[in-house]
Amino acid sequence: MALTLPVHPDPIDDGLRTSGLLKELAHGLGGPFHYLLPHRFDTSLAAFHSALADAGVEGRVYYGKKANKAAVFIDRCAALGGGVDVASLGELREALGHGVRGEDLVVTGPAKADALLRVAAQQGALIAVDALDELDRVLTLTVHRPPRVLLRVHPPAQPESRFGLNDEDLDEAMRGCAQAGDRIRMEGFSFHLSGYDPQQRADLAGDLVDLCLKARVLGLQADRISIGGGFAVDYVPKDAWETFQQEQHPGDYHAGKTFTNSDFYPYHSPVAGADALRAVLTARPSGNGPSLAEQLRQAGVMLLLEPGRALLDRAGASVFTVQGVKDRDGYGIVTVDGTSLSLSEQWFNSEYLPDPRLLTDRIADPHGAMPYRACVAGASCLDSDLLTWRKIAFPVRPQAGDLLVYPNTAGYQMDSNESSFHELPLPPKVVIDYPDDTGRPRWRLDR
Ligand SMILES: *Cc1c(COP(=O)(O)O)cnc(C)c1O
Repeated sequence: MALTLPVHPDPIDDGLRTSGLLKELAHGLGGPFHYLLPHRFDTSLAAFHSALADAGVEGRVYYGKKANKAAVFIDRCAALGGGVDVASLGELREALGHGVRGEDLVVTGPAKADALLRVAAQQGALIAVDALDELDRVLTLTVHRPPRVLLRVHPPAQPESRFGLNDEDLDEAMRGCAQAGDRIRMEGFSFHLSGYDPQQRADLAGDLVDLCLKARVLGLQADRISIGGGFAVDYVPKDAWETFQQEQHPGDYHAGKTFTNSDFYPYHSPVAGADALRAVLTARPSGNGPSLAEQLRQAGVMLLLEPGRALLDRAGASVFTVQGVKDRDGYGIVTVDGTSLSLSEQWFNSEYLPDPRLLTDRIADPHGAMPYRACVAGASCLDSDLLTWRKIAFPVRPQAGDLLVYPNTAGYQMDSNESSFHELPLPPKVVIDYPDDTGRPRWRLDR
């Protein structure tokens, strides 16, 4: 039995595959490409805004920009009043250049470069301070207005994290801000947790509300907290995911490669996206007392969040052309015209698991012929350049010229690790819009 892991049905992706547009683009662009669906981003952003409104919580959503380099998502933030979470001068420049206002930016990341801190302060961006020496550097900036800062908290539930200030550092930072008076605007606290647990986020958020109250005693503004990102994406149905985890073993992969289930992103989440925010807001911090939403309202604390992956759910896919197929002992090796650098999961001792879809003119045998199992390799000279180590069950044997579409890759997969290794061109990004009621897609290049 071949292991399969198809994504949730998606009529837009289905329509694009049958429309002929992807074949046309592969021909015209002459190499691998990604397509982006900005209307999906709009819908997700609106869902996060609704979750805040429904809970009666004042809040702001900052799109975690590192999840995708495309300009179009920043354009959407600027158009829809969303903020952006940036972590480098390049990302900050990009956000400003696409119309996001400085005060709608939050700057995260450790030990930020002086140039980044200076421009952030000049633009009125919110700076999440990660360490005491960074706070010192913020305090020595000579800018025409006081820098706006959050103090990033080291998460006690994740003691191995290298980010944030511990209790002692927090006390010192708060005293430093209080002493600095009008030279700084200490607006609150922040954290970013790894993992996707809503209760953990609510627990720490509750602590941050208390910290705001403590900071106000020192005369600090402290009227907002950021709970970072980490809102799960639900890629595949529950049953498929459970079966996959129970059954996957080295024989399912090229070269007997082994993955343990904990190596994988949790491709199924019962509560995902904006629903995960709803779960955080209704949770009771530390398991008792009023809900987080209630605590925020009572304390007059605004909730900031920085979703990256969740805003990009189903907002893009990656398309490769098959260049060749060879048979091996009982399975095949399909080589495509790109590399695994366009699927970043492959670079974290992990694998991007949602099944790629084969777009071919060949007809599958209706009389139940066995699927053709093959791994997917990149067009490079590295033995480890596999887009998919797993032997995918294709309905027919792929052939040169067929397309392979990896679904739902906009969040972190398509470009975070890309490189022009071998002097292969970087795959361009094609923005696909549906401008009218005819359902006819229109395309343009992202830049
Ligand atoms: C990466 C990151 C995010 C976005 O995380 P997602 O899992 O994509 O939602 C938000 N905030 C900070 C500080 C980050 O480092």
